[in-house]
Amino acid sequence: MASVKKTTSLIHHPYRAPVDFEAPLTAVHKASTVFFPSVEAMKSRDWKDKSAYTYGLHGTPTTFTLEERLCAIEGGLHCLLVPSGLAAIAQVNLALLAQGDEVLLPDNVYGPSKALAKAELQQWGIAHRFYNPLDAQDLAAKITPATRLVWLEAAGSITMEFPDLVSQVQLCRERGVWCALDNTWGAGLAFNAFDLTPEQGPHSLGVDLTIHALTKYPSGGGDVLMGSIISRDDDLAMRLKLSHMRLGLMVGANDAETVLRALPSMAMRYRAQDLSARHLARCCQEQPAVLQVLHPGLPGSPGHDHWLRLCTPHAHGDLNPLNESTDAPNGWAAALFSIVIDPQYSAPQVHQFCEALQLFRLGYSWAGPVSLVVPYELSTLRSVWPSWLRPGHVVRFSIGLEATVDLQQDLSQAFSKAFPDIATQ
Ligand SMILES: *Cc1c(COP(=O)(O)O)cnc(C)c1O
Repeated sequence: MASVKKTTSLIHHPYRAPVDFEAPLTAVHKASTVFFPSVEAMKSRDWKDKSAYTYGLHGTPTTFTLEERLCAIEGGLHCLLVPSGLAAIAQVNLALLAQGDEVLLPDNVYGPSKALAKAELQQWGIAHRFYNPLDAQDLAAKITPATRLVWLEAAGSITMEFPDLVSQVQLCRERGVWCALDNTWGAGLAFNAFDLTPEQGPHSLGVDLTIHALTKYPSGGGDVLMGSIISRDDDLAMRLKLSHMRLGLMVGANDAETVLRALPSMAMRYRAQDLSARHLARCCQEQPAVLQVLHPGLPGSPGHDHWLRLCTPHAHGDLNPLNESTDAPNGWAAALFSIVIDPQYSAPQVHQFCEALQLFRLGYSWAGPVSLVVPYELSTLRSVWPSWLRPGHVVRFSIGLEATVDLQQDLSQAFSKAFPDIATQ
């Protein structure tokens, strides 16, 4: 190129930065177009095995790096990135289900997943049924020859039931149906979804795939929406990957970088928020207006025994992500809990309680730096009111990174303000 105009030289500039650059954070590679050195390369490069780059939609160094790190957390082999946790759920349903098939969802499943089943899936001739997450017999009875996929969730993110995941996965294996776990709560840290039986036998038992809302712990900032689909089986992964490609799903490079930047601190954030949440959950147990506190780490909470089996240091063995000594507080759990408020109080009083909180903000999502509160109308979310759940108003808290004493003080002043008759202090 002998002599070109300035505008052209800005685009076709001869300078090439030296390639040997290493720093803590992977570069943000932004691309739709990717250049090929020859027609031969253009025709022969294959994006499917991640050995080369062909188009932004099929991956860049930034997204490939994020995928590999997410696999490392969970012991997965294949990862796909999608624009939100809900998109991950939708993508799995689209890739694995066809007209005439049936999908089973736990009755406490993430709400929008229910809505998707009732609207689009139904409209496309894919039936759905809800099963009791705490009753293996109920799940067994609901699997029919048409069932292709069972969704699992541990723990449920409003009522916090912790299911017997091992039995559920065993059942899916025996009946030859795929099982997909929404593992947003465990984040790949609280238990190992692809290896659920570390202490027993030569055969490890794992789910077929997990989805995560990276929006929650992996991002940790309340500022990114992203989802992942992680699997180990090559054929299943290829089926998901081809469908993902045909649907044109990808994530922005800056968002991928934001998650990459937050991953190294994830286990420490998870642990710190967990300990704070458990302290506050126990404080709420002392409040006279509170009939029940739901957190799988508390004795008496539904599925507590299942949580003990899967999420305590004993279950972790050497896999404990922070390598803590065994006398560290028991087990790992997401920083979420719900309370059931005495039905003698009115809904407006419950709303007044939520609004009286000053550090807790009203807002959806969780696992960010700011503590959040949401009152739920549970009767509209469930097909049956769970037998173990006391009638009352359900309020869920997500604990952020504020000082625990400040959050405790905030809760206590709001309880006194909204429920003055019987509140302590
Ligand atoms: C938040 C959440 C999702 C959806 O994630 P988005 O990124 O908000 O779409 C799915 N499952 C669970 C359990 C969640 O908490």
